[in-house]
Amino acid sequence: DNVQVSVLGLGAMGSALAGALVRAGHPTTVWNRSPGKADDLVARGARLAATAGDAVRGGRLVIACLLDHASVREVLDPLAGELAGRALINVTTTRPAQAREMAAWAAQAGVAYLDGGIMAVPDMIGRPGASILYSGSAEVFDQHRPLLDLWGGGTYFGDDAGLASLYDLALLSGMYVMFAGFMHGAAMVAPAGVTAREFAAMAAPFLTAMTDGFQEYAAVIDGGDYTVEGQQSLEFSDLGDLLAASSDQGVSTEVVAMVQRLIQRQIDAGHGKEGFARIFESIRRPG
Ligand code: NDP
Repeated sequence: DNVQVSVLGLGAMGSALAGALVRAGHPTTVWNRSPGKADDLVARGARLAATAGDAVRGGRLVIACLLDHASVREVLDPLAGELAGRALINVTTTRPAQAREMAAWAAQAGVAYLDGGIMAVPDMIGRPGASILYSGSAEVFDQHRPLLDLWGGGTYFGDDAGLASLYDLALLSGMYVMFAGFMHGAAMVAPAGVTAREFAAMAAPFLTAMTDGFQEYAAVIDGGDYTVEGQQSLEFSDLGDLLAASSDQGVSTEVVAMVQRLIQRQIDAGHGKEGFARIFESIRRPG
């Protein structure tokens, strides 16, 4: 797979992706809107394209790693004709609807389209632990697998181009709420003179161990029966003590109160004896 590759966008992430290609000896053309960002890559063997159009013409496979959906449209819309017959992998973070919009645009233009969501920071690209989610054209994914593997472990979710970004944003939702939970705990102990570092040393192994619960909850959710034996009930999961202790410490109760509301909604609907996993239903069916 020594295909000519062009990378559009040499921000922190685009540079890392292009760097991994250059390191592996791939013929790589690079382009960035503002000058100066390609110097290092060019010194290592990349070819610099003067315009995005030149970059597209220089590659059978085009990688877009721009700021957001709007910048992708801005750069690629005028290049539909040039892109026809080529493959486009867009690893810019976008919403699922935007990924599907790009797939429809690409289909219209005769472009094979694969959407990607990068679950890594630039430093992780090409190292163990980097994971990239893809959906859209199976052909593009299969054909360029060796190249994609240079960036990190790739997972393909099917031909709905929106699925990779849906997973991406779902995973990030989980991450942000977990981090907010960590911040809440750190804020609670702070008035007692505990540093955030000291708290982190306790929180990291505890929360890591708790992730074993994901599969147990998932089995209950997928089984659709929240009454199965051996679960912690919603009534038992009353977060009143957590809220009171947070107030006593003078910290915001917002993070914990949000979880308490999800629990309470199920208790109010008469499901208090059922398992904690049932708060999934509070989220899944908000009304
Ligand atoms: P940067 O802010 O470092 O780079 C943004 C890039 O987009 C630059 O090349 C910039 O060009 C270009 N750009 C912005 N607007 C336009 C426009 N209107 N026309 C042409 N080019 C434009 O961002 P990153 O490289 O970090 O991120 C790129 C994508 O990767 C984003 O979608 C991000 O969400 C995603 N990503 C990033 C991660 C990270 O940790 N950095 C992690 C996972 C995903 P210029 O230099 O001219 O401003």
